[in-house]
Amino acid sequence: MQPPSKIDHLGIAVHSIDEAIQFYRDALGFECAGSEEIPDQKVRVAFFPLGEVRIELLEPTAEDSPIARFLERKGPGLHHVAYRVDDLSATLAALKSAGVRLIDETPRDGAHGMKIAFAHPKSTGGVLTEFCQVAQ
Ligand code: ZN
Repeated sequence: MQPPSKIDHLGIAVHSIDEAIQFYRDALGFECAGSEEIPDQKVRVAFFPLGEVRIELLEPTAEDSPIARFLERKGPGLHHVAYRVDDLSATLAALKSAGVRLIDETPRDGAHGMKIAFAHPKSTGGVLTEFCQVAQ
């Protein structure tokens, strides 16, 4: 397996994108490159490109959204770090055989037309970790 090539994005859980955007866009001057709803994950995402990395704000769209549960437990804050990989299936297989606990054993659809999968914070030093691959 090739190691991840870069950090793709940082996911930040917020109660309201409209509120959080006052810091990222209005105060900091980041340009919002759009937002997108991911019905699968019951989440709305707004993203701000920053060089090669994106900041992603994640807002729950339902009470049983994983982001809603995260907000309940921990409050707003850093939700996950996403690493870009070339071959997500190979990465998942390698992690699995290394004993890493995976939330997704197979790739699924994420924002930006990416294929994504998560590894469990218990195996990653406490940070929910996403791996993503540009879909072919
Ligand atoms: Zn993500």
